[in-house]
Amino acid sequence: MDTERYDLLIIGGGINGVGIARDAAGRGLKVLLVEQSDLASATSSASTKLIHGGLRYLEYFEFRLVAEALAERETLLRIAPHIIWPLQFVLPHESHLRPAWMIRAGLFLYDHLGHRVLGFGGVSSLPKSKGVRLAADGYGAGLKRDFERGFLYYDCWVDDARLVVLNARSAAAHGAAILTRTRLVSARREGTEWVATLNGGAGGRTVHASAIVNAAGPWVRQVLDDVLKVKPSATVRLVKGSHIVVPRIHEESHAFILQNPDRRVIFMIPYERQFTLVGTTDVPVTRDDYRARITRKEIDYLCEAASRYAEKPISPGMVVWSYSGVRPLYDDGKEDPSAVTRDYHLQLDTGAEPDGAPVLSVFGGKITTYRRLAEQAMEKLSGRFPGKPAWTHTEPLPGGNLEGQSFRGLLLDYRRRHPRLPKVWLTRVLRRHGALADEIIGDAREERELGRNFGGGLYERELEYLVAHEWAREAEDVLWRRTKCGLHMSAAEKMQVRAWLAENAVT
Ligand SMILES: Cc1cc2nc3c(=O)[nH]c(=O)nc-3n(C[C@H](O)[C@H](O)[C@H](O)COP(=O)(O)OP(=O)(O)OC[C@H]3O[C@@H](n4cnc5c(N)ncnc54)[C@H](O)[C@@H]3O)c2cc1C
Repeated sequence: MDTERYDLLIIGGGINGVGIARDAAGRGLKVLLVEQSDLASATSSASTKLIHGGLRYLEYFEFRLVAEALAERETLLRIAPHIIWPLQFVLPHESHLRPAWMIRAGLFLYDHLGHRVLGFGGVSSLPKSKGVRLAADGYGAGLKRDFERGFLYYDCWVDDARLVVLNARSAAAHGAAILTRTRLVSARREGTEWVATLNGGAGGRTVHASAIVNAAGPWVRQVLDDVLKVKPSATVRLVKGSHIVVPRIHEESHAFILQNPDRRVIFMIPYERQFTLVGTTDVPVTRDDYRARITRKEIDYLCEAASRYAEKPISPGMVVWSYSGVRPLYDDGKEDPSAVTRDYHLQLDTGAEPDGAPVLSVFGGKITTYRRLAEQAMEKLSGRFPGKPAWTHTEPLPGGNLEGQSFRGLLLDYRRRHPRLPKVWLTRVLRRHGALADEIIGDAREERELGRNFGGGLYERELEYLVAHEWAREAEDVLWRRTKCGLHMSAAEKMQVRAWLAENAVT
């Protein structure tokens, strides 16, 4: 058994764990992050994939959260322009559900909140909201003709699983050790530090750490109760959300935000070129349902909600893929799962002694606010690790430094330099890797030089790269998280990826 010493041991390779790992490592701390499965294998790859203020949270008076999230939208767009980009949202108007004045007031607040409340300098890079006539202004495609008017506003799209991987890569580049498929099984305080037992592929190991961050998402309470034996006052509400993927319902680039008669909103978003993503649901679950799956009732609910608006009804038979995740919400005591706060809460425990080894637990949080959450986690731990300034808002994530070019400029440049490589593939690889795409393309000038073609836009060169640099080990890591090639492959093609990974296993 090895014994190693760290400043910070982080539990969980979801967005909050890797975000804190990046921030802490960049401040010079010796960091170890352990993830029991693959990076982003739980909630952080199952989101609606929006970097957004959360228009609907205004109805719950969550002004602090919305303001912070809107300001973060600007920061994240700047540091990761390859995996995050602006998306137009169209809200078809239905006066009996919400009157026009209410929507106008909400959008006015949404346009201004990010700047005013946080004192975030400058103007949003996204256009302001406005009223539109759906058919006449080109926003009616795919919708029933009954909907004549609507509202247009902007938020951003993100590849959530890649945001996690890029934060992990950045953390590692700043010196953090990232161990996937490694579980924290027990930990105890010994004097002013933690002694933790980990279980991974290479067997058990013991590590010492000055502090622990519990970013275990839906498992946050289980880690506190069963592993660390700490009794926190905060609790977590586990609320499942599911999405379905259906053939694309219109050829335009805008998404829809649809009002449902139960007052919830449902998104319909263009997805992976040929598809439309529809979500989500809010279903309370218990601790036995960590590995969430969609139910027939949720599929029916989403199909029905989308069909109220879609020109051609959406039926369960059209669903080509679905995914579900469990929101680890901070329990604010609200009855309705849709009303429970989406804000986060950080709880610090130092045990019986005032200078005991701290554990900081993360309750709630959004993909959108992970970077600010990480900064506040470091602030909470500043008693242990003082004097290091915040830095993550300035350094681009890996592949995000486009050297002053827009993403489109980068794409045109690559197309010019690689005229014989498939255009669609180039776009996808640039979306995945941004300015690091050359590390995959290397000296390849034509398709056959990219190595074996697995189908669905995956070639051997990229597969090797994902294994070497992005902790990909199993087929699911590659097909559904590092890429979404799984959506574009046959079952036989997926088997080939599985077989290749088994032959080229990394231990
Ligand atoms: C349906 C849905 C839609 C959403 N949409 C959006 C959206 O559009 N925009 C947005 O900003 N947010 C959205 N969210 C919220 C966002 O996805 C989550 O808040 C966020 O992903 C939580 O990240 P996390 O790191 O806390 O948890 P997770 O991603 O769940 O990570 C926790 C990790 O800890 C690991 N772990 C647990 N126990 C151990 C252990 N003992 N040892 C080692 N590892 C362990 C788990 O394997 C897991 O990978 C959505 C959430 C859901 C469910």
